[in-house]
Amino acid sequence: MSRDGICDASARDVVVIGAGAAGLVAAAEAALRGARVQLLEKNAKTGVKILMSGGTRCNITQDTDAKGIASAFGPGGRFLQKSVGTFGPADVVKMFHDCGVETKVESTGKVFPKSDRAVHVRDALLRRATQAGVQIHLRCGVTGIERNADRWRVKSDTASFDCDSLIVTSGGKSWPACGTTGDAYAWLHQLGHTIVRTRPALVPLVGGFDWTHALSGLTLDDCVASVYDRAAWETKAPSKRKPLVSRRSSWLFTHLGFSGPAAMDVSGTITQAKHFDDVVLTVDLVPDVSTQRVHAALSDRSGGGRRTTTAVIGDWLPSRLAESIVRSCHAETSIAELSREKQTALVDAIKSATFPIQGTRGFAKAEVTAGGVKLSEVDPRTMESRIANGLYIAGEVLDVDGWIGGYNFQAAFSTGRAAGIAASEPSSSDR
Ligand SMILES: Cc1cc2nc3c(=O)[nH]c(=O)nc-3n(C[C@H](O)[C@H](O)[C@H](O)COP(=O)(O)OP(=O)(O)OC[C@H]3O[C@@H](n4cnc5c(N)ncnc54)[C@H](O)[C@@H]3O)c2cc1C
Repeated sequence: MSRDGICDASARDVVVIGAGAAGLVAAAEAALRGARVQLLEKNAKTGVKILMSGGTRCNITQDTDAKGIASAFGPGGRFLQKSVGTFGPADVVKMFHDCGVETKVESTGKVFPKSDRAVHVRDALLRRATQAGVQIHLRCGVTGIERNADRWRVKSDTASFDCDSLIVTSGGKSWPACGTTGDAYAWLHQLGHTIVRTRPALVPLVGGFDWTHALSGLTLDDCVASVYDRAAWETKAPSKRKPLVSRRSSWLFTHLGFSGPAAMDVSGTITQAKHFDDVVLTVDLVPDVSTQRVHAALSDRSGGGRRTTTAVIGDWLPSRLAESIVRSCHAETSIAELSREKQTALVDAIKSATFPIQGTRGFAKAEVTAGGVKLSEVDPRTMESRIANGLYIAGEVLDVDGWIGGYNFQAAFSTGRAAGIAASEPSSSDR
């Protein structure tokens, strides 16, 4: 049935599994193109992750272009180029403006609704989908999918749904309390898809020392966190070491370890290692102050070298942190009394602090899931499976994970839109 009540026999039946960011957009796009769309969601409401995102402010995208978005996804960026290229950050902002949600850009480039209310973002997407004619089924947890002749059958505990095109947008495994428990991996694997090992990303780190735990709550606005392969770290001269990843942003000390954008952005590289011990995490606590300048300040004997090491370091860092670093290096002296060895230890502790990492807070506290459906098995223009015709896969269930800053919603919107458009048309095998 079309929106004006006329039954269109040629319209495609589309089922979308998961009413998150990707699913709401996919369903709306398919319905806007005349498809009969049913959107199935296991929760009692749609967009649960949208509602809690960005500290309930929802950082919808990043103020950049398609290339800037792709660069936040490492190898997954190439795959995203096509869908983000046709529906980039400016298009996302326009979509929200058209639905009555004004946006603003913060100094970090993060784009938020002007109201700072994630519920306005969720409501706009929901309104857009329902106005396009999407039928939403809440408390409808899908238990399996199967191919039935040239159609798909989607089963839930209480009903089954048949369709021509099936869009899977059921998300990853992070924050499982939101309903994202990785259900689709098993169905898609059964159909022949490869599931790249899933692991927590954008997740707080567990580690550090007693003295770093004691600094819990302290934030540094500007740090550079880097992760190195341990073997290379131990065998190469410092100037020859190349980090696996480096991110400059704010850094938060917690009672269990570290959090904040810089720590969370590098966490996916840490969880990629076989053992946490295989990598080394370093933090430059004062990236704007050169190593030479720190050395010079710690060897400045003017005025008799009476200034204490803590006072010197306190010129750049909060006094609590300066005191802790000096104590951890056993360097509580005046500059005049500071040995060359301790001076080097202090410079290292500031410019390249190495913190042991024992683990992460896991999927329970990960903002995204790294790993998922292998990208080479999905058409990057349409999100159609290269393994099963009429099956479309979009959003976080794919093997894509980007930095903090709105990149992940952008990827969900772009891939969701591509899937919705393609699913409303005959599948590649019927064309
Ligand atoms: C605390 C937190 C804050 C975040 N903040 C931001 C942010 O500000 N900006 C940003 O870009 N990203 C943010 N993210 C990441 C972002 O939320 C995700 O990348 C994005 O939601 C992925 O969209 P998706 O549609 O693929 O999956 P989801 O939004 O996770 O949606 C999947 C949906 O599928 C449903 N589902 C799962 N299994 C089934 C089933 N068997 N049957 C029916 N339905 C099912 C789930 O209930 C869920 O509603 C945040 C994540 C978290 C956890």
